[in-house]
Parts: sequence; structure tokens; C-alpha cells
Amino acid sequence: MHYKTNRVISVAVPKPIDTLFDYEVPKEMAIPAPGTRLKVPFGNSESIGLCLGRSEQLTHKTLKPILESIDQQPVISKSELEIGKWLSNYYHYPIGEALFTIIPSDIRRGKSLALDDPDHWVIASDKRPPKKAYKQIVLYDFIQDSQGANYQTILDAGFSSNTLRTLKRNELIKPVEPPVKKELNNSGLKLNDEQQLALKKFQSGQNSYNCYLLEGITGSGKTEVYLQAMKSIIDMGKEVLVLVPEISLTPQTFERFSSRFPQTGLIHSGLTNHNVLQTWIRCKTGALSCLVGTRSAVFAPFQNLGLIIVDEEHDSSYKQQEGLKYSARDVAVKRANQMNIPAILGTATPSIESINNVERGKYSLLSLNKRANDSALPVHRIIDISNQQLIDGFSPQTISTIQKHLAKNNQAMIFINKRGFSRTLFCTNCGWHANCVRCEARTTKHVNPDRMICHYCGWQEKVKNECPECRKEKLIALGLGTQKLESTLHKLFPDFPVYRIDRDSTRNTNQFAEVMEKINSGAPCILVGTQMLSKGHHFKNLTLVVVMEADTGFNSIDFRGPEKTAQQIIQVSGRAGRDNQQGEIILQTYQSANPQLTDLVENGYRILAQNELKIRKKMKFPPFRSMAIIRAEASIPALAENLLRNFNLLLADYETLGPAPAIVRKISNRYRYQLMILTDNNLRLNNAFSIIKDYASKNHQRKVKWSIDIDPIEI
Ligand code: ADP
Ligand code: ZN
Ligand code: ZN
Repeated sequence: MHYKTNRVISVAVPKPIDTLFDYEVPKEMAIPAPGTRLKVPFGNSESIGLCLGRSEQLTHKTLKPILESIDQQPVISKSELEIGKWLSNYYHYPIGEALFTIIPSDIRRGKSLALDDPDHWVIASDKRPPKKAYKQIVLYDFIQDSQGANYQTILDAGFSSNTLRTLKRNELIKPVEPPVKKELNNSGLKLNDEQQLALKKFQSGQNSYNCYLLEGITGSGKTEVYLQAMKSIIDMGKEVLVLVPEISLTPQTFERFSSRFPQTGLIHSGLTNHNVLQTWIRCKTGALSCLVGTRSAVFAPFQNLGLIIVDEEHDSSYKQQEGLKYSARDVAVKRANQMNIPAILGTATPSIESINNVERGKYSLLSLNKRANDSALPVHRIIDISNQQLIDGFSPQTISTIQKHLAKNNQAMIFINKRGFSRTLFCTNCGWHANCVRCEARTTKHVNPDRMICHYCGWQEKVKNECPECRKEKLIALGLGTQKLESTLHKLFPDFPVYRIDRDSTRNTNQFAEVMEKINSGAPCILVGTQMLSKGHHFKNLTLVVVMEADTGFNSIDFRGPEKTAQQIIQVSGRAGRDNQQGEIILQTYQSANPQLTDLVENGYRILAQNELKIRKKMKFPPFRSMAIIRAEASIPALAENLLRNFNLLLADYETLGPAPAIVRKISNRYRYQLMILTDNNLRLNNAFSIIKDYASKNHQRKVKWSIDIDPIEI
């Protein structure tokens, strides 16, 4: 049989296959528009698919017909389809899976794009409840008198959801869009000269693609610049996308945007699939003028997007580590470019990549060098702890400095990058270490409840008293974690509250909110935490930040180690002294002469980053060459390693490193290896992947799972 091409469409299905599939559209069915979801026969069953338009190939094969078109209207527009195709090409990820990554999970599962009733109830007509239905009458009058009310207000006023439901059912009340909050203070603060200059520079290029790096020290008023740049875009009737690192713990970030622009939506990992879908639909229909969201929000659909902002552009949470390993920051810039709209990347500590893009003239630099509210910059002090008598990790000077700040009714923050009590349990008699049974990794001691926990796979066991090897009771806990610091600080400063903030203590969001409230009251206290503390919080009476182990990251084998460590130190330091009080930063280190640490303290982040850029250039590391890592894992180590060896043989013309075991080779009983490829350009990288994909398709590896990571940020 011969099909005319004009009834053949090409469909992307969410399967690990690099190709698209052709299907016939039955005569009685209209040709679906690109971006429409379809039900199609696939193998021996059915699959959901996304129409990409008419097929370009003429075929003589018998094609299967599509079964059903799920949507009347496309779920994603041409511009998002283009991004999906770009993702698939750039990240070497199957096209169907790439396209299904960019839509919310409810849409992936075939749910309809229906908006919930708006949560604002008004009376429907003059028809009143029946005379004897007292409860209904009171609620009806309440709703009438308050000119509409939402569900929570109605419950808070003492009515039952039952009564509300009855009024709804009898159509005595109806849902309407809630009235728009009055736009208060929409014009914002009076900008200082630097901010003014940055805004002007942005506005001069706001009508086409221009990428700006807004480099401003913490507290320099970057957010105020975003807000005013957004206003000039929103005033033109366009929409703005603001990407932020994880914000489920910092609601004030969202409030800053929504109080300026009432039509602001929010997407983050703490929301239900349903809520994400609702916001996504509102965005798609143009009901939102601003969307604030984490990583995946970069794919949200808009009617008339006019600006993309990426706050804290250096933050590694923008890189997805599973599945399609995209960088939301890079996708944001790509999208802006494709749509010919401006993008602003803002941070106090720009990534080396972005600095390089400024130097090459690809990005324009906007700088803010002083604090907006004229508060003084914090002073940094390096404390060498290598020859000191420490009290559970604290040097005597550190302790007396904490004392000094508390005595002035201020708050102090202690930062360490390890949760738990101590890093490991160790036998002083025979050298035994507590290890995870599933990973090649030490377990971490936790208290309350007392457990040895593996931070890689979550496996846990009771804390032993006796060494399982030599049977002696000679076990000691080594290394510091947040819990240990917390208990030490309790003992050292019994008169002050100590609050611990890490993944364990924030699991209960209500408890966490209570702690935050106490901290925000401004009363003197000590905070202990991981890098969770370094993002988005503003503690007004915090004047001291102590970094317990400032040097460890500088010595990491990862070439990004110095960059990441410097960013982290500057970000936590930025928490101190934001409100008219001089902040003080203590960096405890075993290597006070570490050149990078002294460089950072004496010359600041930018100089350190500039030096790093030179090193990268000399070493021909990214951003001077493209890097990719192929990772393989299997339950038998040789299987993973051999596959990568074979890949490596095929890539004889390329510069590769490895195959080598991953830093933690075994996690959850799977052995992981990696092969790194460095090339001068992406075209050559594409070629490398064609070669290995071709090999892999001919030599099917059932027992090895392998994946590609383009522009990896963790090695
Ligand atoms: P950043 O985002 O760079 O860390 P913020 O935008 O949070 O800085 O600003 C820091 C503080 O300075 C905030 O309290 C903010 O309200 C204030 N601020 C910002 N711009 C101005 C300005 N032009 N005049 C007065 N205060 C400002
Ligand atoms: Zn022992
Ligand atoms: Zn484990």
C-alpha cells in the first residue's frame, strides 16, 4: 500500500530510542497540530506520543494509524518543541524522552489541561437558600457581605465545607477569578547610581536577545534591579520568567516578586504535581505576568515571554543530575536567544563560564560593587588551626569571637558541609571503619535517634559499642558534623539557643518555620548548618559567620573545586552584617597558606575566578574545550569497566581520560565507572557519540546502564 505523505505524521514517543516514528492519520481524523498529544500503537501495546508535524519522509511501508488525539489544542508550542529538539541534540538524549521531560508529569500521563475552579466564591444570582436552611443563609450572607471569599476564609470564619458544598451544588454561589491585589509600590525603591546604570544598560537592549551578567556583591540590590527590569518588560504586556535555586525553604524570595507583581506564579519541587500543572496552564494561557520557579520552570510555556532572569546563576542546583542532564541556566540562555529576548544572569560569584562569556564579548557585564543600604562589608579573618588545641573543632579565638558577638546581642552562624554527628566510627585498636554494606563508603554517625547512616544510599544500622573485627570496645567517632557542633555549642554557650539547620532538621516544614520565626525575631542565638543556610536567607542581626573547614574544597580532585569552594565561602559570608552592622567572617583552616584561600580573602572572588580562568585555559579544561563524561554502572564491576574500555578503543582519535572508577565506586550494590572526553568543539563531540551509540546499538548491553553527561559539573 502507498500512503500519500500528507496524511503521515511524525511522532515522538517517550522511549529510549533516538528516532521519531511515522503514523498514518485516519481519514476521519483531522491532521493534529504539532505539540498535540496522541495515543498511538507501539510494539504490542499503546503509548502516548507527541505530534511533531507532518513527516518529511515519503514511505512505502504500511504505517499504523494513530488511535486517538488527546488534545484539541497543542499542549506545547513550536518554541518549546524547538527547545525539546535542541535538548535532544545537545545532550544526546532520546528525542521522545527529551520532549516528555519538558512537560509536567500530569501532562506526560495524559491528564487534561483543565484549570481548577478559581478559589473565590461570589453569590450567583438573587436566588437565596430555602427559608429554613439557616446555616446556608448565614454563609450566603457572609459571602455576599464580604463581596466574595475563598475556601480558607470561609472555614476560618467557622463555616463547614459541607455548607459550602451545598451552596455550590444548588448553584447559589459561583467561582470567579479572585480580584487582583492592588499593585502596591510597583515602581520600587529609588535606585542608587550603580543600579541605575545597570538598569539603563539593560533597557537599551531589552527588545532583543542580549545576555547580561549582573555581578553584584551580596546585598548590592540585584533583586531590586531585577524587579525594575521586570517592570519595564511587564509594562509592555510581556511576561517574565525568574529562575531561582531551590526555594521551598525561603518563601520570602517568592513574596518579594509577588508583592510587586500580583500575577506571579510559583513552581518548585515541594509542590504537588497537580499544583505545578495548574500554574503551568495559567502560564500557558497568559494569566501570569511572572513565573518564579526552580530548574524545570525553564521549560514553562508563555504567551509572550519578554525576559528570563537566572538568579544565583553559578548555583549547581541548576544542573539536573538524573535522566536528561541539562543545565537550566544554559537552557535559559538558549531559549532567550531563540526567542530573541534578553536574559539576565545574576550572582555575587559568577561561574567561570559566565566570566569567560563576558571576556569574549558574548555577555554584557552589569556590576554592583557596593551594598545598597550602605552597610559595611564584612571583614574576613583566617584562623590557622593546625597547631591549636581545639575544642571539638573550635579554636579558642573562634569561641571568644562567638562570645563577643552574642554579648552584643547579635547572632552567629557556624557553617560546616556535613550533616550528622561525626563522619565515621573507627576502632583505635585494629583500624576497622564503619562502612555501608551496599556502598564503598563510610557511614555517618547520627544521634537522636542513634544510627549509623549511609549518606549515599540511606542504609542504616544501630551504633555499635564493640568493634566487629577485634571485639574490643575501642570505637571512637571521628570528624565533625552539624549535630556534634550543635551539642558542643550547647555546652559552651548554655545561655543561648542553638538552632541546627540541615536536611535532617528541615524535614518537618512546620518545625522549620517555627525555628525560622525564632531566628527572625532577632534575639541572640547560634545557628549551625550546612550550605542550606547560605541561600536566600536574610538574618538581620547576624554579624558573625564561622566556616569550620575553609580549605577542604580547594584540594578536591575536581577541577571545579576551587571555584565551588570560593563561591560557597563568599555566599555564606554574605549572610553576615546585612543591616547596618559590620559583619565578621572567620575561616578556620589547616592550611593558612593555601594560595587560593589567601587570594580569596585578600583580593576577592573575582580575582580568584580570573586566576582560575587562566588555569583552565592552560589546562585546556572547560570552558576552553567541551567536556563530556560517559558513566556506566553494573552489579559486576568488570561489565561497566569493559563497556567503557570498548568505547575508549573506538575513540582513539579523541582525548579521553579513563575509564576510571567513580569517586565512590560502589553505591547501592552497583559499581560505577566513567570515561571523560575533551574536544575542541561540539561537532567533534557529536561525532564521538554517533560512534559509540552505533556500537552500543549493535552490542546490546543488558546488564550495564550507561549515560552521557554533557558539560558535567560533578566529576
Ligand atoms: P541582593 O539581591 O544583591 O543580595 P537585595 O536586592 O536583596 O540585594 O538588596 C539588599 C537590601 O538593600 C535589601 O534590604 C533591599 O531592600 C535594599 N535595597 C536595594 N536597593 C536599594 C535602594 N536603591 N535603596 C535602598 N535600599 C535598597
Ligand atoms: Zn577493632
Ligand atoms: Zn550506602
